[in-house]
Amino acid sequence: RSTVLNAYVELKSEGLIESFVGKGTVVLPLNPADTTAASTQLPGYSTPPWRQLFSERSFSAGDPLIRDLLSLSKRNDSISFSVALPDPGPKLTVKLREQLQLLMQEKSDSLWKHTATEGIHSLREAICMWMEKRGIHAAAEEVLILSGSQQGIDLLTRVFIDPGDIIFVEEPSYFSAMQSFRSAGARLMGIPADTDGQMRLDILESMLAKYHPKLIYVLPTFQNPSGLVMNQDVRERLLELAYRYKTIIVEDDPYCDLRYSGHHVPPIHAMDRHDHVIYLSTFSKLIGSGLRMGWLSAPKSVIRQLAIAKQMADLHTSTLSQFLMERMIRSGLLEEHLNDMRNRYHRRKQLMVAALHKYEVPGMTWQEPEGGVFIWCRMPAGLNANELMLRAADRGVDYLPGNPFFAQVPQTAYVRLNFSCAEEDSIDEGIRRFVLAVHDTMDA
Ligand code: PMP
Repeated sequence: RSTVLNAYVELKSEGLIESFVGKGTVVLPLNPADTTAASTQLPGYSTPPWRQLFSERSFSAGDPLIRDLLSLSKRNDSISFSVALPDPGPKLTVKLREQLQLLMQEKSDSLWKHTATEGIHSLREAICMWMEKRGIHAAAEEVLILSGSQQGIDLLTRVFIDPGDIIFVEEPSYFSAMQSFRSAGARLMGIPADTDGQMRLDILESMLAKYHPKLIYVLPTFQNPSGLVMNQDVRERLLELAYRYKTIIVEDDPYCDLRYSGHHVPPIHAMDRHDHVIYLSTFSKLIGSGLRMGWLSAPKSVIRQLAIAKQMADLHTSTLSQFLMERMIRSGLLEEHLNDMRNRYHRRKQLMVAALHKYEVPGMTWQEPEGGVFIWCRMPAGLNANELMLRAADRGVDYLPGNPFFAQVPQTAYVRLNFSCAEEDSIDEGIRRFVLAVHDTMDA
């Protein structure tokens, strides 16, 4: 069956089939013009050959395999451990509604107007206040408001990457960032971690000496996908290496505020004395990803260049979202909401950890994270990852397979489980189903 599933995924990525929830999968015509109702087309005219017109660059990111895999195998009552969407809870909805009403009264005119590409100045100041809590001291002019931090990754790709440039990433790393870097023709090289999940700085140093990368992209806090934290000593040494080998660190930090135990470790950006770090963060994981609000902190000259690229991409981030976030920060409501959210996510994490202990799988290993939204599991040796995916879908649970998170050699032994989205009372059942699927696969 996994062979059939792979075939479906390939056919879908080629645009030859389409899946519809509840209806199944249909074969699409090879040349849509051949079968378009004759009555709607004038003689001698046909639909453009779209695939031939797409640019080379549009294909170079690779295919969105995970999404296809999930859509092919979804059951209606599935429990989802796959996506990392926030579940902000009912209290936030009330707060947001109140703040939106106040905004409509106070700023009814300016809410629908353009803002500067860099963002509303008072919001940039508010974000500096927010970053102070993380230990980062920056001026408003060193902040660029983004339509989500994914936009920051895209802008950095446009501004810094020429085809053939080398980017170092952690192994594993966030696949959408790697996709963006690849789309610009970057060569990605993975830096492995030791058994505690800490970056192997000895390997990094020898690779720095050999390859001189343009950027090192890292997620030091509650990493996506591993959920682990790079310890302070490693951060400091990584920064020293960046200084010594004259390379830039891109620090992607969406999960920093989601710590449930242990001590805050300052972002690398907070330790930087020589402007070698570009820092990305977002409100997607705290409020909602539909808000499309993130930010980037970097030296002014970098902000200027990125703002030119942003202007071409979307002129500026939504004015409404910007004003709303400023109110949430300045009123203290964001902090209040975060305390509530941390408690709920912490409970969900504990439920998942308890269930993983309860339905233990021999040979499966994982580390309990101190925050964030993921548990990264190494599966027993020899388990067929595609088969597991299919069996889990049959059992009614989904998760993300590990291979797309690896820059170089895909490793099928890993699974990423998200614990922030599923309802508390479904987590135990979801893990039970997942473990049954593991046993089904091992017994097959
Ligand atoms: N970076 C990382 C590590 C993420 O996990 C995500 C969201 N999955 C993003 C960036 C993009 O987030 P945003 O919604 O702010 O674009």
